[in-house]
Amino acid sequence: MKIETLGVVGAGTMGNGIAQSAAVSGHNVVLVDINDAALAKGMATLTASLDRLVAKGKLAAAAREGALARIETSTDYARLAAADLIIEAAAEDFGLKTRIFKQVESVVRPEAILASNTSSISITALGATLADPSRFIGMHFFNPVPLMPLVEIIRGLRTGATTAETVRELTVQLGKSPISVKNSPGFVVNRILVPMINEAFYVLAENVATAEEIDAGLHLGANHPLGPLALADLIGLDVCLSVMDVFLNDFGDSKYRACPLLRELVAAGHLGRKTGQGVYRYD
Ligand code: NAD
Repeated sequence: MKIETLGVVGAGTMGNGIAQSAAVSGHNVVLVDINDAALAKGMATLTASLDRLVAKGKLAAAAREGALARIETSTDYARLAAADLIIEAAAEDFGLKTRIFKQVESVVRPEAILASNTSSISITALGATLADPSRFIGMHFFNPVPLMPLVEIIRGLRTGATTAETVRELTVQLGKSPISVKNSPGFVVNRILVPMINEAFYVLAENVATAEEIDAGLHLGANHPLGPLALADLIGLDVCLSVMDVFLNDFGDSKYRACPLLRELVAAGHLGRKTGQGVYRYD
């Protein structure tokens, strides 16, 4: 099956990035959100990102125009009827996502593929709420989408082989590098990355070294572009904490216990760059 038109539900951080990558790679995009303000904000971010690429000489001005011309925005789910693949990138809430997929199912063609960009919700469980789980799959993009090459393609228990193959081919057409992953909490990257960040908070709490020294250690000794505590500030400490809580609950294994210092910082509202204070201060 050839994917020509992509539907994207949610024009936030991830949705506008997915829409941008799809439009730049020559796909038509229908971008849906709940109100015009959310769509305008998403399109402003997307346009600014395209402008930066043009300014750096990484994108031709004509390609920018072409990409923008291929994007239609709407608050009406019925516009998704034209899409061959719909990627949901709304807030991380199981109830919200199931309501969105019910609406999407009622307007799209029976052969259209439905995907979620969820970071932590079970693809098998989401798929089970659909009339046809074989056409449902996880597509986990990374932030910022236009710059990050990886997409984890997550097969739920009832995801069809054709669905997985079609989505893999599309991911390559988007200029991204896919890895195939079986549904499991945190998939591959966050399963490894977030417990490492959590361990850095334990090391900090035990005064083994200062935050700067812990980050310098991983930067200079393991070649990580960013130390784990600086990375936590970028991701959001609240996001890191909720991922650890999902692991603890879903695996039932105490090795995923969130560091009390991480929980304390979140309780204080020190969520990282987005609040101006996390492990570090941002003025
Ligand atoms: P966000 O808050 O930036 O954007 C969510 C958007 O969805 C908002 O514009 C909101 O108005 C819209 N929305 C809410 N309800 C809707 C509805 N019923 N119909 C249509 N649109 C609706 O969120 P985000 O950071 O882009 O995250 C989106 C998804 O991607 C989440 O599932 C998240 O876990 C996942 N994710 C996020 C990141 C990240 O780094 N931010 C990385 C990978 C995956």
